[in-house]
Amino acid sequence: MSKAFREQLLAEMAALKTVDCHSHTCLRNEYYQSAPKSLFDLSSAAYFEREIVSVTGQSPQDIYADCDSDEQRWQQLKAVVDKARNVSYWRHNLVTFQGLFDLEEDELTDDNWYGLNERIKQKTADSNWYHHVTAEVCKLRTQVKNIPWFEDWEPEYFTGVLRMESALELWLVEARTQLEEYLGCSIVDLGSCTQALGDLAEQYQARGAVGIKLAHAYRRTLSSEPVEEPTAARIFAAALRREEIPPPQVKQFEDYIIYFLAGLCSDTGLIFDIHTGVQTNWAHIPDSDPLLLLPLIHAHKSTRFNLYHAGYPYSREMGMLGKHCPNVWLNMAWMYVITMEGSRQTLREWIDLVPAYRLLGFGSDVCYPELIYGHLQMARSCLADVLAEKVDRDFLSQQVALDLAKMMLHDNAVEFYGLETE
Ligand SMILES: [Zn+2]
Repeated sequence: MSKAFREQLLAEMAALKTVDCHSHTCLRNEYYQSAPKSLFDLSSAAYFEREIVSVTGQSPQDIYADCDSDEQRWQQLKAVVDKARNVSYWRHNLVTFQGLFDLEEDELTDDNWYGLNERIKQKTADSNWYHHVTAEVCKLRTQVKNIPWFEDWEPEYFTGVLRMESALELWLVEARTQLEEYLGCSIVDLGSCTQALGDLAEQYQARGAVGIKLAHAYRRTLSSEPVEEPTAARIFAAALRREEIPPPQVKQFEDYIIYFLAGLCSDTGLIFDIHTGVQTNWAHIPDSDPLLLLPLIHAHKSTRFNLYHAGYPYSREMGMLGKHCPNVWLNMAWMYVITMEGSRQTLREWIDLVPAYRLLGFGSDVCYPELIYGHLQMARSCLADVLAEKVDRDFLSQQVALDLAKMMLHDNAVEFYGLETE
């Protein structure tokens, strides 16, 4: 691979503004409620938390519960790291520590953890740190942030996408009551239920939200079927009478709402974001296969679907989905911290398959600004590897490779989300 061209790509990407195409970053206001952070806060907030659970069977809070000092916390963390320092989720932390907190070595050890922890505490106490990392170091144009129902965001840093799993729970009285209270309406039948959902989405859209998001693949199959309105209305009426709803009927109600939401997106121009692929410990992996969305996607050709996480491990399938469905955008959110190797393989194939304007190259999917930085470094490294390699071997021109980097990190997202051009 041409080393010089790879370096050129890295330099170009470092100079670019990036649109973060999927964010859970805490608000600036929230960040400083628990600042300064420590080494243990950052590594527990990162995806390595899932490895802590996987290795110990306990949450980070549990493993640190009996610790009175950072020395004791380090012993706990070290025991996990010794078993799992190979995984990408750990290396994400190292990249972050090296780039932002002056860790000089390539591993965290008994000799360097203390100094690192002190530097983290000192830097994260600075009231300009949050802004410095997001705006100046990462050069983020905006972060397209997951917004739970009824919550808000800081427009200086974020663009909203309204999380919609609660819509699938409207057969339950708690979810219904919350929505009724928020909107000041009463939900008395299926019609007033979907009306309320439409009103909620409209309110958020008026405040600048660009889409809605479902992450139901964490707990159920992505496969949904069209359900006739009278069927859904009968199920909902039974729920309103507080009757027991059997699981197959719950699924029918959810499927009806999923189709309703896809139609709503087509009517309003909102984007439909859907979590596909990677879940968490004990998840039923086949439920997350993006190909299960085909009937929904085919039934809503004028809805723009934004499929997350490269559908990993179904990334090749998702490449073909993107190739055959012009209403599907492919989003690399979360991917580089899951696997850099899988990310490279995915990008190598997608760049051959899918028109470039539908490739979204970066979504941080983390909760602290520092972790965005680490993820972005990993993303740029993978993109540079793949693009330089394709110039060498796959007859891609250098100019197109440079254009692709800019499109995947910035231009595509600006056009897709309708962001104002600067
Ligand atoms: Zn996410």
